[in-house]
Amino acid sequence: MKILVINCGSSSLKYQLLDMQTETLLAKGLCERIGIDGHLKHQPQNGKSVFDEDVALPTHTEAIAAVLDKLTSEQYGVVASMDEIGAVGHRVVHGGEKFASSVLINDEVMAAIAECIPLAPLHNPANITGIEACKAVMGDVPQVAVFDTAFHQTMPGKAYMYAIPYEYYTDLKVRRYGFHGTSHRYVSARAAEMMGKPIEELKLISCHMGNGSSICAIDGGKSVDTSMGFTPIAGLPMGTRCGDIDVSVLEYLCANTGKDVKTITNELNKKSGVLGVSGVSSDFRDLTKAAGEGNDRAALALDMFAYAVAKTIGAYAAAMNGVDGIIFTAGVGENDAATRAGIGKYLGWLGVQICPGCNQKRGEETFISTADSKVKVMVIPTNEELVIARDTKALTEK
Ligand code: ADP
Repeated sequence: MKILVINCGSSSLKYQLLDMQTETLLAKGLCERIGIDGHLKHQPQNGKSVFDEDVALPTHTEAIAAVLDKLTSEQYGVVASMDEIGAVGHRVVHGGEKFASSVLINDEVMAAIAECIPLAPLHNPANITGIEACKAVMGDVPQVAVFDTAFHQTMPGKAYMYAIPYEYYTDLKVRRYGFHGTSHRYVSARAAEMMGKPIEELKLISCHMGNGSSICAIDGGKSVDTSMGFTPIAGLPMGTRCGDIDVSVLEYLCANTGKDVKTITNELNKKSGVLGVSGVSSDFRDLTKAAGEGNDRAALALDMFAYAVAKTIGAYAAAMNGVDGIIFTAGVGENDAATRAGIGKYLGWLGVQICPGCNQKRGEETFISTADSKVKVMVIPTNEELVIARDTKALTEK
């Protein structure tokens, strides 16, 4: 069975086509500037040429049509016809409290995803658009929704509740949801395989560190706490997001800058984090370079990040009354040896010993702790698309 995986943003659409017989990637690509002008980069994995050109993409429907055209074309294609695509799996950002696992999409599910729009006003509408565009172009091909929030629905109340008037939870659904669930789920399952133990017997801490970063405490395979909150701004300082902050800062900044809540919130999302502190970049490669050249603010931003990650790991070790394995994943986690080593320095008390030689490896599954480290530390490249494709296969074969 071949499965198309779609990750739809407001003006972009990422896709992968996977052959699920062998779990191999057949093609991947990205539509950008949808609704503006349009660009498509299509990368077949069978040796055929890459397509990387401007294409008119007035809406997501044209984008899906362009993707299918490339997937089936003589010059760039990987399948003979659209009929070979058995199902479509969509990444959907917010499933609220309704979805604790992936689901086959029907009218009822679409309505429930729409109900979650107030919780993710930038993301869920784009995800709905992607699903509708597939339906318009592909007809009755089964579609599955895989939610970023679903994995965290196992968190207990003590972890997901905010200490605010209870009615804000019951009436307005204000609580911690957590994100990156598909990634945390994938890497924790891989970690159990690498450690040769059933996941039910393991306490794991997964550190997804990319542009957006979150940490998840996984006890016996279930998320019991996570650092992102009601929205993905919470928790660690990130590329451009501030992470946890005293809420009074918002009112203070509005009063003293004359800017409104929306403007300041936008700054906390897009101009903060390591970018805001360093004034250099949101990219950890640029920060490492600048810090090496003597830029103190870049060095401070990197220190703040490693410190926040280490503190959260400490907190989650307490939350689970122990930890057997720590996982680093996503752009920074998979590649940035210096940041991993910097985090490791705080964790000796916990029984974490990073092996400096092993830690130099990049972008491959590996242990980076010493043989006698009490807590195993692993680098595991994440693969959210594979999880989406697997869920889609399982639900559509039923
Ligand atoms: P996203 O959250 O957008 O999916 P990624 O997981 O791709 O992001 O992570 C992107 C980040 O990974 C970049 O901003 C960069 O800081 C970091 N990164 C990528 N490669 C390296 C590297 N070799 N060394 C350090 N950081 C890296």
